[in-house]
Formats: sequence, structure tokens, C-alpha cells
Amino acid sequence: MPSSQPTAGHLAVKPEYLSSQPSPMAKASEPNRSKSYDPKKPHITETPITRANWYKHVNWLNVTLIVGVPLFGCISAIWTPLRLKTAIFAVVYYFFTGLGITAGYHRLWAHTAYSAGLPLRIFLAAVGGGAVEGSVRWWARDHRAHHRYTDTDKDPYSVRKGLLYSHFGWMLMKQNPKRIGRTDISDLNEDPVVVLQHRHYLKVVILMGLIFPTVVAGLGWGDWWGGYIYAGILRIFFVQQATFCVNSLAHWLGDQPFDDRNSPRDHVITALVTLGEGYHNFHHEFPSDYRNAIEWHQYDPTKWFIWTCKQLGLAYDLKQFKANEIEKGRVQQLQKKLDQKRAKLDWGVPLDQLPVMEWDDYVDQAKNGRALIAVAGVVHDVSNFVKDHPGGKAMISSGIGKDATAMFNGGVYMHSNAAHNLLSTMRVGVIRGGCEVEIWKRSQMAAKGEILQSADGERIIRAGSQPTKIVQNSESAGAA
Ligand SMILES: [Zn+2]
Ligand SMILES: [Zn+2]
Repeated sequence: MPSSQPTAGHLAVKPEYLSSQPSPMAKASEPNRSKSYDPKKPHITETPITRANWYKHVNWLNVTLIVGVPLFGCISAIWTPLRLKTAIFAVVYYFFTGLGITAGYHRLWAHTAYSAGLPLRIFLAAVGGGAVEGSVRWWARDHRAHHRYTDTDKDPYSVRKGLLYSHFGWMLMKQNPKRIGRTDISDLNEDPVVVLQHRHYLKVVILMGLIFPTVVAGLGWGDWWGGYIYAGILRIFFVQQATFCVNSLAHWLGDQPFDDRNSPRDHVITALVTLGEGYHNFHHEFPSDYRNAIEWHQYDPTKWFIWTCKQLGLAYDLKQFKANEIEKGRVQQLQKKLDQKRAKLDWGVPLDQLPVMEWDDYVDQAKNGRALIAVAGVVHDVSNFVKDHPGGKAMISSGIGKDATAMFNGGVYMHSNAAHNLLSTMRVGVIRGGCEVEIWKRSQMAAKGEILQSADGERIIRAGSQPTKIVQNSESAGAA
């Protein structure tokens, strides 16, 4: 990162840095590259799916692991009695293997939201392996691409391709390695725990996914087969489906309190299903924060686990964005929503688009029967409103053809904010002379940005700031 901000005419990064960056294309020597993969040959995903070739598009290994094995587990469960001890152990082990993914794969390795000592890293890599969702290295690489290229074609599990695709369709079908956005994982390649887990991944999966839960239930209370089916296979199925929800449900269900330009959303149901990963709109805005839920009452057991590890001296450097930064995002999103609502309302013709009238012309037109009233140099046609005026017809008619600024602003009656808003919808012109200076001063303020403008360039009118509202000088008001 450059130590200072680039100025105009300067590149943000030095050209030497750019040329030293690796090519976005994967090298054939990369360890997670399938041996049969040849970057020169067209990939199967480049040919359309037909009746003759559909099976070539399917990733059969993943279909076996994600659909076939759980199906076998479900069927076997019919004949396998579920013992209480096995059930409790399966739930506990479900949480630990889930935390391996959320606290380990996701927050520690993909986002480096905190640092962990060797014992915790070994523990997370082991139980995370027991969730059977690929190695840390593979998972974190894809997840970094997901954050970097959210909702684009380079996002490995873009929800724009459908909810089921983002859930597990992306794993059941073959993916073109050239399509997935490249990310830097050099830090992961330097972590011996990650490298070792990647190298011996299959052994880790069999040991932590199946052997360990079978042995615990078998040696513990003699339930070998129950341990294998419930704490092994079916527990893997539930952990997989739960954590897959981070890619599907968290991009589909809920609110967007921080930014609505992309799909991530916050929802308590997603949080309940995913061990606290459900505040996903926050997470995509502040990915390196060790928390997903920032309020104490929101459900984020992954955060509680990391915090507990810190108290035990197993984790350190927990990253947290400042409340000021988080609030800025929240307020900007609120403002955006407000602007969108505001844009749907009629605020009257902007002053600078109104025709300029001479004072004499204004008086003449009023005399000739047009119900025109000038307030603060702005001319309003109140013809259709005279009969509805809450203060009576006589009162409003007495202002026609005159400068009603003082009358309107407290001389006769201090009109409400709503009255100023309503008046603005009746604008038909501005007067040259009179309060002219006041109006042009205001339009200049707008040009200088002193009057707030919404994102689409429309002027934002705060309560009490219609140009017809003349703010009284408190000193002279007090003296009067
Ligand atoms: Zn996401
Ligand atoms: Zn993430």
C-alpha cells in the first residue's frame, strides 16, 4: 500500500508494483489445480449443456459427498436407533465443526479478522476439516474472490445465478477455473497449518469427519454405528447445509442497513442457522471485523467463541472497526433511502427553473384577476387554494398582488412548515428586484454545495428550510 494518498496526475501504485504482480491467470503449478486440468484445452463449461454431454458438466465427486453420502445416512438412520448420548454428542460436535468453518476458515483464514496461536489454528483446521467443505486454502481462496467480485461472474457463488446455485449448485456443477476471480492467498501459503491441512486433506476429512465421531461414541458408550451415522454422516450433512446458507440465504433474505448496491443482507434467521454469520450486509462492508453481529443481543456464537479464545490466551489482535465508521455507513444508507423517498415527492419547481417576473408585471397580473402572491421574492399562483385556505379566504386574498413576505412569516400568522411546503408547490415565478438578492444568494449557495443535494442532484429541503421561510434574527425579534 502506498503510504500517502495519490495526487492528481500520479498513479495510486507504482508501475513497478503492477508489473511485479502475478498474472490473474492461475499457474499450472498451483497445488490446488486438478492434474487433468490443461489451461490450453477448452473447459467443459465453455460448451453448452446438452442431453449428450450433461453428465460431463456434473462434478460427480461433490455430488457423491454432498448428496449421495447424506442420502445414505438418511436411509441408514431409519434402522439406526438414536441414543440420547449420541444425539447430544452429535449436536456438540456439529457446533465445533461449524465453528471450524465460521471462526476458522472464514473469520481467521479468509479475512484475518484476528490472529490465533498454533494450538487454536491446529484445532480449527482439524474440526473445520470435519465439516467436509474443502481445505482451508481452497475455501478461503474462493471466499476472497466472493468478497472481491460479489455478484459478478467472477464470484464463485454469485446469488445472481439463483438461490440454489449460490447454495450448492456451484459445487455440484463443474466450474471453469478461468472464470473465478483471482485473489492473493500468499499469506495462507505461509501458514504451515494451512499448507499441511491442504496437503493431507483427505486424511483429515476421513479422520475428523467420520473416524473421530465414530470412535468417541463407540468407546464412550458403545454406540459405534450410531456415532458413525448421526455424529458422522448426518452431522456433516447439517453442518454443510448450515454453512452453505451463508452464500445463499445471507445474500437473499433480510435488510441492508449498510449498503444496498450488492446482495448481502442481515437477518436473524440466517444468523441462527449459520452460527452467527447472518449479519452479512455488515460483514461485506466490514469483512475484517471479527464480529458479524455488533449488538450484544444479536446471535453470533462465532464472535463469542473468538472472544472466549482471546480470554484464554489462544487468540489475539481481534480486529474491530470503529463505531464512528460503522455509524457513517448506516447513516449514509438511511440518507440514501430518505433521498429515494424524497425524490418521489413534489417539492415545487426549483427556483432557478422559474421564469423571472418584473414587480410591475406581477402587480398587473394580480390586478387582472390572477391570484398571485409574492413571498420572499417567489411568486405563487394560489387561485385553486384561496377557497381552501385554513385562515380564511379574506386573509389570503389580502395578500394578492402584494409582497406578503412579512404577512406569511409572522406579520399576520407564523405559517407552519407544512404551509411553506404546500406553498412551494404553487410557485410560478421569481421577482426581479425586491427579494431578488435573497433568492440568487440561495441559488449560489446551492451551486457551492452549501445547500444539501441528494445523490441524484436534487436539492434536499430540510424541515423549515423552504426559501419562503424567512428565519427571524433572534436579536431583533427579542428587541421588538
Ligand atoms: Zn457473502
Ligand atoms: Zn466473508
